[in-house]
Parts: sequence; structure tokens; C-alpha cells
Amino acid sequence: MTTAQRYKGVVAWFKKNVPAPQSELHYTNPYQLLVSVILSAQCTDKRVNVVTPALFAAFPTPAKMADASPAAIFEYIQSISYPNNKAKNLYGMATMLVNEFDAQLPHSIEDLQRLPGVGQKTANVVASILYNQPVIAVDTHVFRVAHRLGLVTKAANTPTKTEAELEKNIAPEWRAVAHHWLILHGRYICTARKPLCKQCGLTKWCKTMENGELRIES
Ligand code: SF4
Repeated sequence: MTTAQRYKGVVAWFKKNVPAPQSELHYTNPYQLLVSVILSAQCTDKRVNVVTPALFAAFPTPAKMADASPAAIFEYIQSISYPNNKAKNLYGMATMLVNEFDAQLPHSIEDLQRLPGVGQKTANVVASILYNQPVIAVDTHVFRVAHRLGLVTKAANTPTKTEAELEKNIAPEWRAVAHHWLILHGRYICTARKPLCKQCGLTKWCKTMENGELRIES
């Protein structure tokens, strides 16, 4: 199977079976989405959704968060992974939003990445969800599923290289959605330790199955 055929099959399957994938983070405005994505690094969305209602109630705007302190923010996120660093980053992010961006989220990925706690992946997630920018954020799920399916080559051994190969092959209008397709597939079907290949609708196009490299019973 050629790479083009694989992409065609995979994208068509997702379009038909997962037509409107959504982030599983709970948020009601851009500021809340950014806070949630920062908190979700090395942490599950479910755990983030447990702490954010009280956090957003205490700090409903960037200005309120900037008026607080890392220690005050820490109190609300201590059950999250790396709470000290994330509290400092949230405080720094809110302060920069207020001081440099009129308390609004910037639209460009470059400006988003200037905010404390916002790397390339976080900036891509936020920009693709909020502004439908044609980028694919590569987290651990996207990386694993893209490699197992054979959407990217073995040379794509970093998130940045994986993103570049995916973006080369997925049309701009489908990139923001493709991020969610691959994340959800990795979270619920093509899981790290025990992929549910028997329940997977993509076996026909999956390079790992084609090569007989993975035969895990579901
Ligand atoms: S067939 Fe198995 S390895 Fe391939 S994408 Fe599906 S779950 Fe993952």
C-alpha cells in the first residue's frame, strides 16, 4: 500500500466515523482553554476537568489570576502533575496576557509560544481549536498512532518531525480535526500498552497490522 492510499483510507474512515471530534477538556472561553491545555501536560484531561471548575471560579479572568500569586494558584491545582511549575507558569502566563496582550489570547502561534508554559504543542492545540489554524499538535497519542498506522516514517522520531510529515500529507482544512482524531483513537483504541486491534476500524490501512508487528488480543 502506498502512503497516499494509506492516508486516503484513514482520513476517509475518520471523516465517516468521527465526523465532529471535540476536545475533552471543559472550557467556556479562550482563556479557560489555554489554562486547561497548560494543565493537561503529562496529565489526563479527566483530572484537569476535576480541578478547573474551582480554579476558574477563583480566577475567572487573566487579570484575576495575575492579581493572585503562584502559591494561591497552587492551592487549586495540587492534585495535578507538576503543580509547582504549572502554578508559576499560569501566573506568568496571566501576567503577560494582561501586560502585553490586553488580557486577550494572541492569535499567532509565535505569540502564544512566548507565554510561560506554552510550548509548540500547547500553542498548536490552542490555535487549531480556537482559530482553526492548519496545524497538527503532536502529543504522545498522536505520535504513537501516527507511527503505528504508518502515516509517518521512522525518520519522524520527534514530535516536530512527525508534525511536519502529517502536515505534508493532510489537507489544511482537515489538520485541526486530524489532531483530535488521532488523540481520541490513541486514548481509547490504539492505547499504548494494549491496543484494541480487534475493535479498530483502521486495521485495513494499519502498517503495524500489515507487517504483523503487533498482534495483541482485545
Ligand atoms: S490496528 Fe491496532 S495498531 Fe493499528 S491503529 Fe488500530 S489499534 Fe492501533
